[in-house]
Amino acid sequence: MSRLNRDQLVQLAKSEIKEISAGELKKRLDAGEDLTLVDVRERDEFVQGHLPDAVFIPRGFLELQIEQHQPDRDQPVVVYCAGGTRSALAARNLKEMGYKNVISMIGGFNGWKNAGLPFKVPTVLTKEQSIRYSRHTLLNDVGEAGQIKLLESKILLIGAGGLGSPAAMYLAAAGVGTIGIVDFDTVDVSNLQRQIIHGTKDVGRPKVDSATDRIHDMNPDVKVIGHREPITSANALNIIRQYDVVINGSDNFPTRYLVNDACHFLGKPLVDASIFMFEGQATVYQPADHAHGIEGGPCYRCLYPDPPPPGEVPSCSEAGVLGVLPGIVGSIQAIEAIKLIIGIGESLVGRLLMIDTLDMSFRTLKIGRNPDCPVCGDHPTVTELIDYEQFCGFPSHKEQAQEHELVPA
Ligand SMILES: [Zn+2]
Repeated sequence: MSRLNRDQLVQLAKSEIKEISAGELKKRLDAGEDLTLVDVRERDEFVQGHLPDAVFIPRGFLELQIEQHQPDRDQPVVVYCAGGTRSALAARNLKEMGYKNVISMIGGFNGWKNAGLPFKVPTVLTKEQSIRYSRHTLLNDVGEAGQIKLLESKILLIGAGGLGSPAAMYLAAAGVGTIGIVDFDTVDVSNLQRQIIHGTKDVGRPKVDSATDRIHDMNPDVKVIGHREPITSANALNIIRQYDVVINGSDNFPTRYLVNDACHFLGKPLVDASIFMFEGQATVYQPADHAHGIEGGPCYRCLYPDPPPPGEVPSCSEAGVLGVLPGIVGSIQAIEAIKLIIGIGESLVGRLLMIDTLDMSFRTLKIGRNPDCPVCGDHPTVTELIDYEQFCGFPSHKEQAQEHELVPA
């Protein structure tokens, strides 16, 4: 039996197989040739990027798995590794299995990439992400696929205040890939009793900056886009358009109407909530999208077609709020957003969750689409965004429930 050293073995392999340059392979692929591309590198190499349409079979599994991808031994198979050596050996193994047309790419993936040819970064979790999100991926309803959906998702928060703080932190921890934050305010000492994303050291800083730092500290996977401006009819559509789901954490009527209308016009689900003293409420407004089988539900204007006149509602600065309450309600908003992104469970579409923390009761009431709604009704009268005069307030939940004769869901 002959004894070969490493170089001799590689040379022998190369003499028995065909090799192809990256440029030549690209030409053949562009010409539409049906080539089975096999990436034989290890997982941590593959996740950094691979040729578009390549199948991933680490060399250790090549002989065991190749037939699943290309059972026909007459068809051409192109294997590549990082630099062209492992793939030469792999190609020789395939030849031994009877594959007649096996080609190894010279220079491997590095050569391909250095030639400026297109590659794809695959949607698989990195080793670090697999550990970070393991309590998610262990859930059958989430799994690696659900986690990847979160990593690829974009969620917009209106406000980095009481509701936005817990929502942003849990979404960041959960691995939502892009979090947008609309807020033009700066951190005030009186915010710190409930706006837990900000710290004492942040007093005087823009809330967007403070929130961004905290999010990056929690999870460097998350990209934060700060919109440090008031949301108005002039920018609402352009901002909201960039996101998959919107979470409203604002405490004033003009923004609530503006965001409701913009989300309806753009077909974006809106996770809405509000808090007042010891009580909170949350729901999801989901515009119908029949092309994608989404039935949808009511919007904010189905319940409140127009804002009350300024002066008829209490000012927010006068009303207190229990500091923990936004932690509960904002966290519920984060859960609803995550459910919408992954596509699991029953969302709060068509249901209004009402929480009273004094008797610790959670009730859900049915809310239906109003055919006379000025925005989503059968004959809409509001067809463009409106900037209402800035005012504040929050009617009592109990009065709302009575006014609309809502029934338990
Ligand atoms: Zn409506």
